[in-house]
Amino acid sequence: MARLAVATGNAHKVEEIWAILAGQIEDLAREDLVDARSLGAPSPVEDGVTFEANALIKARALAESSGLPAIADDSGIAVDVLGGAPGIFSARWAGSHGDDAANLRLLLDQLADVPDEHRGASFVCAAALVVPGGDEVVRLGHMPGRLVREPVGDGGFGYDPIFVARGQAVTTAELAPEVKNSLSHRGAAFRALAPAIVEVLAAR
Ligand code: IMP
Repeated sequence: MARLAVATGNAHKVEEIWAILAGQIEDLAREDLVDARSLGAPSPVEDGVTFEANALIKARALAESSGLPAIADDSGIAVDVLGGAPGIFSARWAGSHGDDAANLRLLLDQLADVPDEHRGASFVCAAALVVPGGDEVVRLGHMPGRLVREPVGDGGFGYDPIFVARGQAVTTAELAPEVKNSLSHRGAAFRALAPAIVEVLAAR
């Protein structure tokens, strides 16, 4: 099958995306997914103000630099009582990009006095596909749930240890990867994008 560039250097995310797409695209092999780092692709400035805009910025930049169809996601957590924040700023909520432990701690401290019935939150993911010089498709996925008071679990990444998905009794950091993928915002967004990916790869 034709190769597909993935606009992330986060190894955890590449594996999640691979596991999701492998269940949707029969002939896709792990080697067909090439990540941005191994392509030596520059990181674009993510100056969009929505998940969709940032996912498209990343996929466009990678499609252009690699000449391959490219997929990207932009994701984060939207907390009800914070009016949807951290949202697109989830990865840098405590100041420096990608400091998961500090981001999670700051969010817990901000919500320290918020009672359980007002701790609703949702993970959100936009998944984008861009063909060099051609089509662009973007799909959204959500995972509603609530925030707990202390981190629990070693799996996943980011805010997983403080998030319990609706209908679950444990945090997403305690779920088996295949269970998280079946519920997750990223799973929903990439499953919705899969038919467009199949069409693009079949045409190459
Ligand atoms: P992105 O890599 O720019 O999409 O930033 C996503 C940020 O949102 C990550 O750094 C995490 O903090 C958070 N995030 C997104 N998806 C998840 C998830 O599935 N679990 C936990 N945190 C997530």
